[in-house]
Amino acid sequence: MGNVIAQMLVKGVVFRLESELPCEAKFLLEDFRLAVNGAIRAGLRARVTSRNALARLAYSDFRKEHPKMYAKHLVSAFEVAGSILKNHRRRVRRGNAGHVPYVRRVFMKAENQAYKLDRANGVIDLPIRAGCHVMLTLVLSDYHRGYLSDSSYSLGSLTILPDRAIIAFRKNAPRQYVPDSVLALDTNERSLDGVFAKGDSGVAVKAEFPDIAMIQQRHHDRRKRLQKKKAHDRRTSRRLCRREGKREHHRIEYRLHQVANAVLSFAENQKSAVVLEDLRGFKPRWNKGLNRRLSLWPRRKLHRIIEYKAQWRGIPVVKVDPRNSSRTCPICGRIQDSRMGTEFECECGWHLDRHINASLNLLQTAISKGMAGGLRFNPGAFQHDVMMILYDPVTGARSEPNGTSCIGLAT
Ligand SMILES: [Zn+2]
Repeated sequence: MGNVIAQMLVKGVVFRLESELPCEAKFLLEDFRLAVNGAIRAGLRARVTSRNALARLAYSDFRKEHPKMYAKHLVSAFEVAGSILKNHRRRVRRGNAGHVPYVRRVFMKAENQAYKLDRANGVIDLPIRAGCHVMLTLVLSDYHRGYLSDSSYSLGSLTILPDRAIIAFRKNAPRQYVPDSVLALDTNERSLDGVFAKGDSGVAVKAEFPDIAMIQQRHHDRRKRLQKKKAHDRRTSRRLCRREGKREHHRIEYRLHQVANAVLSFAENQKSAVVLEDLRGFKPRWNKGLNRRLSLWPRRKLHRIIEYKAQWRGIPVVKVDPRNSSRTCPICGRIQDSRMGTEFECECGWHLDRHINASLNLLQTAISKGMAGGLRFNPGAFQHDVMMILYDPVTGARSEPNGTSCIGLAT
């Protein structure tokens, strides 16, 4: 698995606020937004995107307008503006610039030296300007207390929105274990199908998520209907579609997290390396219509979720080139001309469920490239009569702790 440089992992945890923001904080959020938009304008005019260049351009003007604002918040505003400008520049290069960037949402971001957190009681001490601080009390569940009380997490930035705060918790990525088995998974529209190989034998595994494609289809149809019905009122139509989209997004994401957790708990218990196909090369084919494009997104998302959750748990994940994986015979190496039905059949007599067969090929690719920790596997030893269920939507649908989270990476 090569040498892995210790990576800093960052997880943003969302906290609700116990009471409404005090006036001073509301004004600060407004000021922060003005500062970000001011810096964006200055950056666009001068064609710069770095935080320091933006600070040189806009600092003195903004200082004049808001002489008392805490200087560290201003620096943070330039940082936020800088990243918005960089994204904008990337879009311009790709040729889909959209409109000039502008921040509508009121929010502010404070770097970790610019606020204090009482981790025992969940109270944020936020400086507004010289001599003026506000205290923000966070609503705590067990999920939230877990982050506050774990001293292996250090604090990163704080983002404040009118009704909630997002705290970034940072931690060094744990060392990956040395695997003594492999879990190779082929990612399909409605399931992960794979093989779990340990010692001399291998068995089929499955994690099903049929409802994700269903939710997508249903929302897609509903959106279409909404667009038709509200054709005379494009603004309402757009608003309703956006709301639909958000709801769909949450429901799908929730399921994907459950699937990923189930798969990774299994891998962790078995000390498995996880093998996935590299989906980066896949380009949606436009002529196959919208449904095709929709179906690729959850799979990519699932991979991203599996990868970052695995990093937090020290589970090795390798990605292999999936070319021909669904058309190759793992026994004799023959490549079939075309895809067949649900069963893969080869002239040499080998036959297996098409998806499971694809995962056997992913496993073999990983092994042949030395990416599976020196493990060997003989596909002839595959047990055809066993199927392990890693996730089943009926029994797997537990309720999660209340609290949403998202994870990002920082090196
Ligand atoms: Zn064959």
